[in-house]
Formats: sequence, C-alpha cells, structure tokens
Amino acid sequence: MKNIFERTSSLWVKFNDYEIRENDEGTEYIIPSENAEMKAYSPMKDGEQLVIDTINLGLHLMRNKKEKNHNEIIEYVKKYGLLGIMTALPTTAEFITYENVYLPKNHLIKKEMLSTEEYLDYFYPFEKPDFVKRGVESSWSISNDAEGAAVAIVLSDRPQAVQMSLQRIYGEPLEWVKSMCTDIAFYFLGSFLYYHDYESLSKDQRDLYRQSMLAFDGVSPTYKIALLDKPTIIWDFNSLIQMVQMMFSFLLTDDDTSINMCKNCDMAYIPSRKGTEFCSTKCKNQYHVNKSRRKKE
Ligand SMILES: [Zn+2]
Repeated sequence: MKNIFERTSSLWVKFNDYEIRENDEGTEYIIPSENAEMKAYSPMKDGEQLVIDTINLGLHLMRNKKEKNHNEIIEYVKKYGLLGIMTALPTTAEFITYENVYLPKNHLIKKEMLSTEEYLDYFYPFEKPDFVKRGVESSWSISNDAEGAAVAIVLSDRPQAVQMSLQRIYGEPLEWVKSMCTDIAFYFLGSFLYYHDYESLSKDQRDLYRQSMLAFDGVSPTYKIALLDKPTIIWDFNSLIQMVQMMFSFLLTDDDTSINMCKNCDMAYIPSRKGTEFCSTKCKNQYHVNKSRRKKE
C-alpha cells in the first residue's frame, strides 16, 4: 500500500518491561515495571505490522478466552507500548483544558460525562500525577521528573494528556486493552469471512455481516498540511489505538493490499503476492504434511 502516513506526528513511547498489578479495588492493570526503560519510536514506520500484530493478539484472545494470556499481552506492549486509551475515548484529546470529559458511546465507560479528575483516576491506579486543576485552569508539574520532562520535550506539539499518558505511572485496565484488540480482530474476521464465504452465506447472514461492520467507528486523527519539498499531509495521532484503527481501515479498503488469514495457522498476515494462502513457507509445508497424513488415516 502506498504509505499515506509517511509523515506523521506519531512518536510514541514504550517501556522495555511491563507487569500486571491489581489495584485496591481488585482491577488488573498493565503498567511499566518499576525499573523499565523508556524509549520513543514511530509506530507508523511499520504500520502494517502493527495492525497484523494487533489483529493476531485479538484473535488469540478470542480463541483462548479461558486463559489469562498475560504473556501475549505483555509481549505486545513491550513491542508497541500501551494503547493510549485515555486520549482515545474522549471527544477531544485536549480534555485536560476542560472541566469535564465527554465520552461518545464506547464499551469501556458507560457514563457520558465525568469530571476530568474522575476520568484521570481510571489511568493512574497506584500513583497520581502531580496535577492540579482549578476550573479550566490546570497545571501539571514535571519539574521533579527528568523522564517526564524528556517526554514533554519530544512530544511538545502534542496535547498535554498525550504526554501524560506516556508517563511511567500511567496504566491501562487489562480488560480494556483486551477489549480494544479483540474489537479489531472481530472486525477483521467479519470482513474477511464476508468475502471469503460470500457464496455460501444466506441473505440474512450477509445482512448481519454488513450491519456489524457498520458499527466500526474509529476516531479520526487531525491533520495539517506542511509545505515540504511538496505539499504534504502531516497526521496528528493522539493514541496508539488510533493509529491501529486508522491503518486498519486503510489496509482493509486498499485495492492492492489485502489482509489474509493463513489456511494453516488461522492467523492474519499480508500476502507478499496475490493468491497465496499461507503466512509462511513453514505453514505451507506443515499444511501439506498434515493433509497427506490425514489422507493415509
Ligand atoms: Zn500460518
């Protein structure tokens, strides 16, 4: 696919280690481990792999609902960082500058409106940010925190809440991370099976697939146009999950690239050329070995 996201303000921060910890109310959170090191990177440099890994994590979670799946989730966040759910849910990522946070319909928080402090509490399960709010005035102190200051410099053009969501004390409820990844996998499956099984689906089944796909609604990133060597769109992504949703939507609707599901391992992959059915030579060989074994039995 032609990379329309070549230029993005999509720097993101990941830590090299995460852990799962319960807060006082017994909610499991995923959060950087105490001595984990922070690193900034650009997820959209390899946005296709980001989407594939998210779909595959989601598929794994769907198929192994009874397991804890902690290792799979930790491997994913070690590779990409947390999803940035705090800035993905509200109507604006600039919510820090308002007294209240407004939430469009979502699976995670039922309330449509809550105070900014109340909202922040969801994402700082153990230690609160040094954050003072009086009416619409807010101040966030990072003076004693060299790491926080570094993030603020690297991401100085991003909303304050985005910078806050990349702090070491920021965590995300494990169930929310699971739910976000499972959603992406669900929409991928819906679209894939609709075309793959089209002939064998009844009219009602086809309607059902179409209806459920319409429920997908990503939050669009904002963008600006910069006069570089030619006029260029600069995308402003405010969360990792927003990058996933946007890239997923383009991949799904792109004429040249299709996301396929491997006939052997049932995992998503992007075929290097049309007509392939397997994610790797290994899967291809394994499939044929199993097939001839089945024939003998
Ligand atoms: Zn495979």
